[in-house]
Amino acid sequence: MKTFSLISEMVKAVQKEHKAGHSIGFVPTMGALHEGHLSLMEESKKANDITVCSIFVNPIQFNNKKDLEKYPRNLKEDLRLLQSAGCDYVFIPENEEVYPEGTPRLDINFGSLDKVMEGKFRPGHFKGVAIIVKKLFEIITPDHAYFGKKDYQQLLIIRHLVSVLQLPVQIHASPTFREPDGLAMSSRNLRLTIGEREMASLIYQTLCKVKEKAGHLPVKELRRWAIKKISSNPAFTVEYFEIVDKNDLHILENWKEKENALACTAVFLGDVRLIDNMELFS
Ligand code: AMP
Repeated sequence: MKTFSLISEMVKAVQKEHKAGHSIGFVPTMGALHEGHLSLMEESKKANDITVCSIFVNPIQFNNKKDLEKYPRNLKEDLRLLQSAGCDYVFIPENEEVYPEGTPRLDINFGSLDKVMEGKFRPGHFKGVAIIVKKLFEIITPDHAYFGKKDYQQLLIIRHLVSVLQLPVQIHASPTFREPDGLAMSSRNLRLTIGEREMASLIYQTLCKVKEKAGHLPVKELRRWAIKKISSNPAFTVEYFEIVDKNDLHILENWKEKENALACTAVFLGDVRLIDNMELFS
């Protein structure tokens, strides 16, 4: 496994691979890796000759300075995990290497995709995500790139980016990897206290119950039920809980388009913000 921190070196390595006729799979991450990340690596390894992983805590996608400062960083352990997962190249650039002239411009209209849920509560977040993913795609030039459904709205943003800019990369989505108690794996879970960690599966339990009840209660009532259920534990503050269409994220009014129904939530547990989602009819 080779690691690069300079764009020029990374570009040289992938150009050599392309010349040799090797396909390149790419897994962008912000580090503090867990099995969810490794499941994306596995998908890439199955389908490509070479797998590249990037570790970059992208400052411009954090709308909250504290969240950026407290984001878990664990490079030594990350490299160990990537080595044992069979990663070929790791790209670990510094901020100045990625943004030598400050934040680049990106004028893409994401329609309603970046206005709701994460977009509404984290202004500027998806612009930051789109800028870094575009930049990483330009550097790595992957044939295939792998993203988790855990960040479902991000996945739609990236599909939109690729489609609008006609980027020559195929986007693949992997299911959410969960802890044994159902909590969606996330780097931010490392910030939970032991007590919070024990309670955290309430989010998954609520999503499972919502799936059971979907179609039996009116959508609005079910949404209210879910918010009440999570809020019944005072350690939790629900930022949003929405039942949306998984294609364009518009809020469902009824169960007529139920095969596309996706429940999405963002919750504060203490000062840690957790997100999760579940398809309700598949
Ligand atoms: P992050 O390091 O949080 O930016 O995530 C990097 C990639 O891993 C993104 O495509 C995420 O959607 C994906 N990912 C994060 N957590 C999970 C999970 N629990 N299961 C599957 N994929 C995940």
